[in-house]
Amino acid sequence: MRANRRPPQFIQESLRLISYCPVCDTSYNPMEARVIEDRGDQHLMHIRCKKCAHSILALVLTSGMGVSSMGLLTDLAFEDVLKFRDAAPLTLDDVIGFHEHLEAQERAPKERT
Ligand SMILES: [Zn+2]
Repeated sequence: MRANRRPPQFIQESLRLISYCPVCDTSYNPMEARVIEDRGDQHLMHIRCKKCAHSILALVLTSGMGVSSMGLLTDLAFEDVLKFRDAAPLTLDDVIGFHEHLEAQERAPKERT
């Protein structure tokens, strides 16, 4: 019996994810991928589709077994990722504070200049 030389399904799928836009299926231009962080064999990348303007965050893992990746559709621009990646997580107090801020604005008389 001949060995199956095709890469495993998950590797094909993960490479497809970083080669084609998952939204409109357009092939990415390699120049649209920007590396956010390189940590050994882990590479975090931001890829923006030129056609539909959707972006994905892709974590690409290289190992002796091959290359795999995980992708996440995002509305963050490359600069946003840099800005928010080190930000503290939102707390319950943050959410309540924002809600109170909105309510206070609602109650205040609207001023137009
Ligand atoms: Zn697209």
